[in-house]
Amino acid sequence: MSSVPDITIPPDLLPADGRFCSGPGKVRAEAVEALAKAAPTYLGTSHRQAPVQFMVSRLRNGLAEMLALPDGYEIMLGNGGTTAFWDALTFGVIDRKSLHLSFGEFSSKFATAAAAAPFLDDPVVVSSDPGTHPALVADASVDAYAYPHNETSTGVSAPVIRPTGVSAEDALVLVDATSAAGGLRFDPNNADVYYFAPQKGLASDGGLWIAAVSPPAIERIERLAASDRWVPASLDLKIALDNSRKDQTYNTPALATIFLAVSQVEWINANGGLEWAASRCDRSAGTIYLWAEARDFTTPYVANPDERSHVVATIDFDEAIDAKVVSAVLRNNGIVDTDSYRKLGRNQLRIALFPAIEPSDIEAITKSIDYVVEHV
Ligand SMILES: *Cc1c(COP(=O)(O)O)cnc(C)c1O
Repeated sequence: MSSVPDITIPPDLLPADGRFCSGPGKVRAEAVEALAKAAPTYLGTSHRQAPVQFMVSRLRNGLAEMLALPDGYEIMLGNGGTTAFWDALTFGVIDRKSLHLSFGEFSSKFATAAAAAPFLDDPVVVSSDPGTHPALVADASVDAYAYPHNETSTGVSAPVIRPTGVSAEDALVLVDATSAAGGLRFDPNNADVYYFAPQKGLASDGGLWIAAVSPPAIERIERLAASDRWVPASLDLKIALDNSRKDQTYNTPALATIFLAVSQVEWINANGGLEWAASRCDRSAGTIYLWAEARDFTTPYVANPDERSHVVATIDFDEAIDAKVVSAVLRNNGIVDTDSYRKLGRNQLRIALFPAIEPSDIEAITKSIDYVVEHV
């Protein structure tokens, strides 16, 4: 990267909040203040006692409401974030063989985890070029289909659907919603395990996994737990299910993470639910993609507008402008974490559009980038 020019963006162009990281994402100040206020009777208290269990029950109920879960679906949670949950799914939900849509860093990682399991058949991995997603096609040899609702590394979102002609009795649909949950609309009837960690769309901190599970998924968890497959206790989904039903986790969770996630979910529900939050993300996405199309030095990386994420925008820059210099100047002006996903290796900015981020701040960041590009 060339040296970083000394450019001061005029204060009236700057966003009110400079956090645009795609993970972990912006945590709302109101939630942090509420946590500080609740701290004396909450932080540092037992997770087996009423105050914390009540917070977990608020999280489970609030999520069931936000995601409009059908009857019989349950919210489970445990420690280790989404990465640990892939291992839990590998042990406790995939029966013999899975199919993975792989179109970026995160979706490829779950495919790799399933491929490494000695007790499973090799998975079917369907890939497409970065910046696109493959089609979901039925395959009679698999008992689970896995794909992300939003591939955070590339800014591609995929619809939550079941493969044509496949019911949950034939094969389960496992959807990684780590960056999508709370920001993208979907039909929960189309997913058997809709899972995420709360540090992105839920504006909390990392370390926890959360999953909305359908009755057929619960049945699968119970059946595999009763089989002779060895499962480490910390990844055992039957143990996690039993604890979740008691508003607990198997081992100690981060109490602040749970509190901040509750704040975000209840904030979304109080304002009109997922439809309201998704509409905010639509506004932000409309602003940034329209801007990127209107400038001659930028293009939305994802060519198909239907696949462009409304929670994480990836914007390619003309080679005449070094996007790393732009993000470094932005950082010096308090606008942080706009760099492209490191392994994607493109001349690109990646900007989160999560519900916690004000749509007016997305407008402000486009003006700030215009100013930087004019002055480099
Ligand atoms: C961030 C992310 C992950 C990894 O989440 P961790 O909680 O850090 O393990 C997995 N999948 C997607 C789609 C993500 O965005």
